[in-house]
Amino acid sequence: MVLAFHKVEPRLTWGVTNYSPRRFGRLLDSIAIFTEPRNDKTVSLTFDDGYQSFLNHADSLLTDRNLTATIFAVTGYLGKRNSWDYSSILAPSPHMTGSELRVAASHGHRIESHTHTHRDLRALSTTDLNRELSDSKRNLEDILGNEVSELCYPFGLYNSKVEHVARDVGYQRGWSMNPVDNGPFTFGRWGVYSFDTPLTVWSKMNPGSPGAKLEKLKLQATSSMAKAARFAFWTE
Ligand SMILES: [Zn+2]
Repeated sequence: MVLAFHKVEPRLTWGVTNYSPRRFGRLLDSIAIFTEPRNDKTVSLTFDDGYQSFLNHADSLLTDRNLTATIFAVTGYLGKRNSWDYSSILAPSPHMTGSELRVAASHGHRIESHTHTHRDLRALSTTDLNRELSDSKRNLEDILGNEVSELCYPFGLYNSKVEHVARDVGYQRGWSMNPVDNGPFTFGRWGVYSFDTPLTVWSKMNPGSPGAKLEKLKLQATSSMAKAARFAFWTE
């Protein structure tokens, strides 16, 4: 079971991708109870976009509990504010710099790719698609000094051509925003949004529970709204 977070900031933000540090700490404590050995559950934590708020707020909450996460960084935006999430126009959320990514890596977190400029990969020419995936991989490897083998698709969007090119340029695994696994380039994750609580996260982790059906319905509704309105902040 893999959970996908975005921002962890103490302020109120527009959209649903922020989780306050206070609530995030409480959620981590709940997850520890859900995953204790007798419950036979495991969970991995991922953070999309590589926001500075990870280092400023999430990092200490994780390391205090001996936890690590995977950060999917957008290499063209290192040290900058993004341009795909319109909520950031009102309350900008800067991305980590290369040296900040190294600090996160030194704390045990994995740094993997979220492409170079966070575009809908399905809409790109083969040349641009190659560049998006290979530039990001190479830049991160230069910064970190280790191999980068995992790719997280922007907005969770991909198709068979994207999977094919990802494999060709050297990635070994691709991550979507759909909770269902369909092979090494379509690993699934459950998004965690500001409206989620320990109970809804528990439901996501327990596919047979009545709450899990509700979570799937919420996911479908969220996805449909994102497609209809093209509001990137839902699934960024
Ligand atoms: Zn993203």
